[in-house]
Amino acid sequence: MDTLQNRQVWLASRPNGIPATTDFAVRKADIPKLGEGEILVRNRFLSADPAMRGWIVDKSTYWPRIEIGDTMRSFAVGEIVESRNPDYAAGERVMGLFGWQDFAAAGAAQITRKVTEDDLPLSLALGVLGVNGLTAYFGLLDVGRPKSGETVVVSTAAGGVGSAVGQIARIRGCRTVGVAGGPDKVRQCLEQFGYDAAIDYKAPSDLDDALRRACPGGIDVFFDNTSGAIHDAVLRQINVGARIAICGTASYASWEPWNQGPRPERHLLVTRAIMQGFLVTDFAPRFREAIDDLAGWVREGRLKYREHILDGIEQAPGSIEKLYAGGNDGKLLIRL
Ligand code: NAP
Repeated sequence: MDTLQNRQVWLASRPNGIPATTDFAVRKADIPKLGEGEILVRNRFLSADPAMRGWIVDKSTYWPRIEIGDTMRSFAVGEIVESRNPDYAAGERVMGLFGWQDFAAAGAAQITRKVTEDDLPLSLALGVLGVNGLTAYFGLLDVGRPKSGETVVVSTAAGGVGSAVGQIARIRGCRTVGVAGGPDKVRQCLEQFGYDAAIDYKAPSDLDDALRRACPGGIDVFFDNTSGAIHDAVLRQINVGARIAICGTASYASWEPWNQGPRPERHLLVTRAIMQGFLVTDFAPRFREAIDDLAGWVREGRLKYREHILDGIEQAPGSIEKLYAGGNDGKLLIRL
C-alpha cells in the first residue's frame, strides 16, 4: 500500500449554473489511514450524476454543499482492501458515497450496500442496480403507482433512470411513452427499451400534438426528470386521478429564484391529480427488496441497460457538463 498514491478530483471553484471541467482539479494525496469502524475501499467505477450539480451550488439543498477544496462527493463502487469494521471484510465489494478518488476511507454512514451479485458486472451497482434503478423502482412503483393498462410517460426516457422506468412500467403491464432528445435516443427507446411510442422533444414538431398522438387515452402517470416545457406539455394531457412523480429538473439552466411557469393548481384540482417529489434515499430501508427484483429482471433479460464508460479519473471533471449537454449514451461512469 505504501507505494500507491491516491488521486482525488476536488472542487476548485463554485460554478454558477452547470459545472464545467474547469471547476474541478486533480491532486495526489496519501492513501487515507483508517479510523475505528472504517473500511478502505479501492474504487473501480465512479458515478457521474445530474444531482451532483445540486451538491455544489451556493446553497445547501438536501445535503450539505461541497466546499471549495473538498474532494467531490459521488457514488462509487469498488472492493475493500482493508477493514476496521467487523461487518465488512477485505475482498468484499461495496457501493457507497466514496467520492471521485482512487481510495476512500469510509464509515458505515457512507456505505450504501455490499454488492453480492457476483454473476453481474460490478458497474451495474452504480446504474441499473444502483441509484438509477432504485430511483426508477421506487419513484414509479411507490410514487407513480401505475396500474396495468394505464399510460405512463417518462422524460429523459433513454437515460439511466428513464430507461429503467419505462421497462418497469412495461413489466407492470402499462403502455409506455418516452420523451428523449434526438433520433438516436428515440430509436433506443423503441428498439432497446420497449417503449410503445417515443417522442423527440428536440424535433421542431409540436410537442402537444406528438403527445396527443402517442397517448390517445390521455396520461395516467408521468415520471418527470426534466420539468420545464416537457412537464408543461404533459400536464395539459393528464387524466383524472393522474400521478406525477417529480424526480429531476434537468431542463433548468439555473435554480434562482423560483423558475417562472404556468400555474397548474386549477388543473390539478379539476383532474384530482397528485404531484409528488421524492428522493431515492427516502427508501433506503427497502433497497434490498428492490435490488432483488431489479437483478432478477436483468438476469431474465427483461430490464436492459446502456452504459457510457469514460476511462481515467481525469475524465471526471467534464462528466457533469456532458450529462447536461445530453452527451451521455446511457449511465455515465468513470472507470479507474
Ligand atoms: P440521464 O437521464 O442518463 O442523463 C441526463 C439527461 O438529461 C441527458 O442525457 C439529457 O437527455 C437530459 N437533459 C439534459 N438537459 C436537458 C434539458 N435542458 N431538457 C431536457 N432534458 C435534458 O441521467 P440520470 O442519472 O438517469 O438522471 C435522470 C434524472 O433523474 C435527473 O434529473 C436526476 O437529477 C434525477 N434523479 C433523481 C433522483 C431522486 O432521488 N429524485 C435520483 C437520481 C436521479 P436527452 O438527451 O434525452 O435530452
